[in-house]
Amino acid sequence: MIHYLDHSATSMVLPEAREAAVYAMTEAFGNPSSLHAMGIAAARCLKESRETVAAAMGCTPAELYFVSGGTEGINTAIFGAAHKNRHLGKHIVTTTIEHAATMQACKRLEGEGYTVTYVQPDEMGHIVAQDILDACKKDTALVTMMLVNNEVGTMLPVAEVGKALKQKCPQALFHVDAVQGLFRVPLTPKKWNCDLMSVSGHKIGAPKGVGAFYMKRDVRLTPYLVGGGQESGFRSGTEPMPQIAAFAAACRVRSANLERDLAHVAELKAYLTVQMEARLPWVVWNGTPDVPHVVNFSLMGCKSEVMLRVLESKEVFVSAGSACSKGKESHVLRAMGLDKARIDSALRVSFAPQNTQEDVDALIEGLEAGAKMLRRK
Ligand code: PLP
Repeated sequence: MIHYLDHSATSMVLPEAREAAVYAMTEAFGNPSSLHAMGIAAARCLKESRETVAAAMGCTPAELYFVSGGTEGINTAIFGAAHKNRHLGKHIVTTTIEHAATMQACKRLEGEGYTVTYVQPDEMGHIVAQDILDACKKDTALVTMMLVNNEVGTMLPVAEVGKALKQKCPQALFHVDAVQGLFRVPLTPKKWNCDLMSVSGHKIGAPKGVGAFYMKRDVRLTPYLVGGGQESGFRSGTEPMPQIAAFAAACRVRSANLERDLAHVAELKAYLTVQMEARLPWVVWNGTPDVPHVVNFSLMGCKSEVMLRVLESKEVFVSAGSACSKGKESHVLRAMGLDKARIDSALRVSFAPQNTQEDVDALIEGLEAGAKMLRRK
């Protein structure tokens, strides 16, 4: 039996999402732009899906654009905002603990003459709102930050930043990478004064290859995909209806069970913490997570990549950091100032509602066995 505890990397597709995708591929397979009955049925499904996902994102359907995932949303926001505001300034503010999609987009803009201020977290993985605001200047075109860190589960102060940013730097656009926040914490882009926001389907039980991008009604970025004018002309290309229908189905399931799921995941994390402290008391916790689904720790002396193999042999799957870092040293833990030995032995566990106490038990047994072997060496 598989014990999958790596849901921040991706999750399995929920049965309801799979059914919706199969239906959209085999029965309601029309093109939403076609004028005949098959097209009209697909357009109806697209409209209903938009309403469902918009409700989950705390925005109106007219402010939501379907995209291919978190990376596309983030790239659209960063390059779109930089391009839109280039006459106002070439300065961007972000943090050193962002996802690679943000980091690489910022790096590319640096190559094009932009300056980027990277705000540092404290040793627990928290970013201070005032540090972001202090970094903003008259020529700041964009502030982009994540809502929930994918490696250590800390929440960033988007509400505080959004509130003060519009007073201090009204010209700056504000983008929130909410990929790890969807169905973990409420998304309230209006309250946050947020102009742009990105989420991804595959973190909540939809297939890979679909996401949603929020663009506030009075904000207009230049579309970088042009063609048939789909998504109100902002993102051309025939809509991937199987993914979109599945994304909406996953949102319906997650929203119907939200409170129960969050309580269950919080219980699993509490159980993991108690078991670890009792059975592996030399564990060192990395960061202080604010969300229940992510936990990061180091078992000193046990190299992450070796421990991952030990766990894998017992069909337990966790990760050493972001899946996108592909085994490279975590830039998040480094930014928090952790020493190399601690970074080299870090593991991230991330839960979904489907996880059970047996999954945690299997993880602890695997860790005990691995630690016995590795620490002896
Ligand atoms: N942002 C964060 C915080 C993430 O965790 C991820 C995925 O790991 C992404 C962005 C990228 O999303 P996607 O895989 O849908 O491109």
